[in-house]
Amino acid sequence: MQSHNNASIILKPGREKALNRRHPWIFSMAIKAVKGKPALGETVDVIDAKGNWLACGAFSPESQIRVRIWSFEQGEVIDQTFFESRIQGALNARQALIADQKLTGFRLVAAESDYLPGITVDHYDNTLVTQLLSAGAEFNRHHIIGALESIFPDYNIYDRSDVDVRKKEGLAPVKGLIKGVEPTELSVIEENGVKILVDIPEGHKTGFYFDQRDNRRIAGSYCKDKTVLNCFSYTGTFGIYAMKNGATHFTNVDLSQSALDIAKKNIEINDLDLSKVDFVQADVFKLLRRYRDEGKKFDVIILDPPKFADNKSQLNGACRGYKDINMVAMQLLNPGGTLLTYSCSGLMAADLFQKIVADAALDAGRDAQIIGRLSQASDHPIASTFPEGFYLKGLALTVR
Ligand code: SAH
Repeated sequence: MQSHNNASIILKPGREKALNRRHPWIFSMAIKAVKGKPALGETVDVIDAKGNWLACGAFSPESQIRVRIWSFEQGEVIDQTFFESRIQGALNARQALIADQKLTGFRLVAAESDYLPGITVDHYDNTLVTQLLSAGAEFNRHHIIGALESIFPDYNIYDRSDVDVRKKEGLAPVKGLIKGVEPTELSVIEENGVKILVDIPEGHKTGFYFDQRDNRRIAGSYCKDKTVLNCFSYTGTFGIYAMKNGATHFTNVDLSQSALDIAKKNIEINDLDLSKVDFVQADVFKLLRRYRDEGKKFDVIILDPPKFADNKSQLNGACRGYKDINMVAMQLLNPGGTLLTYSCSGLMAADLFQKIVADAALDAGRDAQIIGRLSQASDHPIASTFPEGFYLKGLALTVR
């Protein structure tokens, strides 16, 4: 029955199916009873309606995802050794990628996709940045930090758990230095021989978007001798690859002036020609229309917007948003130009996204051919038991 002195969760009959497929979430409506008085985030055993032990996981009384599974192995104790072994497993799985692309910046732990629900750890040179998003991650904070210290003894550790989703788990947003030296300047990471500046305390997410790494490299290959418009540029890293590959002119557009300031420094530290790069602080939705009215044209356009849908009720609005920017972007392309378009909304299925882009082409009055399908970099794996881990999808299109 129970593997140790945990409180336990008894499931309703038939509600063990997802767990038998090793999906790591138990929703509140699957639960018949809670035995004992587990604290927020404490480890509980999960028992099916017939009394069989199924798994142990973290109890989250305020979230609809009531339990996130740590282990399906009976008797496994959730302590520092457990986290060391999972984190080491995540590191081992990335070693080839790190060596191949000469990475000093990468996602070390991708939460559920690395069998560590609610835990994100990003590696920035000699600093690890943590994001503990679930009650169970917070409850085990000392074990997780202890595990990181033991695998990476000389590293700084900085916490960027300052995100609103923690509230769903009954946790307040927190951030700050955990170990080592406070980051006073921008950090520098490298990938594929490119240098990238990152603002760890103030940047988006934990500071940077590693998930687009492969797409930056692919984008570069379309940019030789081309004029490029990069919408939602953040710190302009698509532009570094494009300029290295011989783009004739590159325009970064973002709402955030601080992101654009870093984008400019990113061009400088890579010894690229600043006179060929523009930085435009603007709302992409408005700017694309203005450019259309002005008759502006580009050879390549990159559209990498933020997540438009956080929940199902926002999906329709998200579809309209994607269609709008894709339509106007196609109208701005020279004949035979390239559109590189992405959606990082997990709720937006890849086939739906493709339909939206097809509709955008119809409305733009252009023929569009898909020449590449794009996805998240491999330090953002998709566990076969957790299809929700697939969120970033993109299309490369020739627009005639
Ligand atoms: N392409 C970037 C990541 C983009 S993240 C990279 O590879 O690193 C999304 C960016 O869109 C953020 O920098 C955010 O500031 C910006 N943003 C959000 N809404 C916007 C809008 N309406 N117009 C312009 N930029 C916007």
